Amino acid sequence: MDRQQAKPAFGWSWRIGVVAGIAVYVHATFVILILWIALSYWLATHSVSAMLEGVGFILALFGCVVLHEYGHALTARRFGVRTRSITLLPIGGVASLEKMPDDPREEILVALAGPAVNVVIGVALWVVVRLSGGADNPQELGLTSGSFLERLMVLNFVLAGFNLIPAFPMDGGRVLRAWLSLRMDPVQATRAAAGIGQALALFFGLLGLFYNPFLLFIALFVWIGAAAESGATEVRSVLAGVRVAQAMRTEFHTLSPDEPLARAVELSLSSSQKDFPVLDIRGGVLGILTYTDLLRGLKELGEQGTVGEVMETGFETVRSDEPLQSAFDRLQSCGCRVVPVLDANGALVGLLDLDNISEIFQIRSALHAHRSLGTDQRLM
Ligand SMILES: [Zn+2]
Repeated sequence: MDRQQAKPAFGWSWRIGVVAGIAVYVHATFVILILWIALSYWLATHSVSAMLEGVGFILALFGCVVLHEYGHALTARRFGVRTRSITLLPIGGVASLEKMPDDPREEILVALAGPAVNVVIGVALWVVVRLSGGADNPQELGLTSGSFLERLMVLNFVLAGFNLIPAFPMDGGRVLRAWLSLRMDPVQATRAAAGIGQALALFFGLLGLFYNPFLLFIALFVWIGAAAESGATEVRSVLAGVRVAQAMRTEFHTLSPDEPLARAVELSLSSSQKDFPVLDIRGGVLGILTYTDLLRGLKELGEQGTVGEVMETGFETVRSDEPLQSAFDRLQSCGCRVVPVLDANGALVGLLDLDNISEIFQIRSALHAHRSLGTDQRLM
């Protein structure tokens, strides 16, 4: 789907290439990191070769990070899960998987595949370093001492170890959650794993205060990751058992491709609907005209331009009997504003957007709260 391929997972990022069908993006802040490193080497040494070596080292290190992300992505692909993109940020890489595999055993393998890649690279570099006669004394190896390859080897082992810390958003946190969910229900497992992650974050934070400020940064990162993960699971538990048909909008206007944009303007001003399904004469969905498309069309073609000229034809659809959670995941992963809902015969029966989902989420949360309040009162 061209629409998906064209969309990076993060704003402010540029595509630098496509390998194995997965686009690799680099975030603007990553470029700033490279410039900062170049500048600090230049200021410290005033030597072009030292500066190039410093930048080359960071690029090689992030090359290993990209391979780590491909470890996750290609293992997920074996279990039928696609990866939309890989993005390089200054704090590391992010592989945007469409979803996690449903089987916890598969999730464990996907999570372990990343650090395993760094272990393999580390061992391979160790062999190269040994064969070339270096690293006779392993105690001399460190993050900052040793040759280019020796430092790269040490950092690959550090990367593997760091990612195995059992806290979200680290890979170790996913392994822990998946392992726990083999023993308890997934919501409880995520809460337990997030709790362990936040306890570790507190511990890192305290260590950071006394020893190394960098640990404070990691603590913050882990704390936010744990909170986000347990929030996502909370949503999952509230939406459990709800079908798309219960949340979708059933009263809506449709357009035909040869209608002028003026008609869409009229409908969007007179109702609260902003995105319209475009149908052929027999009622089949041809495309979606979003509010953004409408504005773009008005700018380029004026009010007499037709709906068919500006509508989007690459769009996702969901089934009305599908679990709302899976529709929600797809809505988020395609970055779509709205998706048409089809029944078992492929006929359009509704529209689903993030507002519908947030509405049903608020209603069900309120009902949950009401029920638990009810039991408390009975207990008193
Ligand atoms: Zn990873």
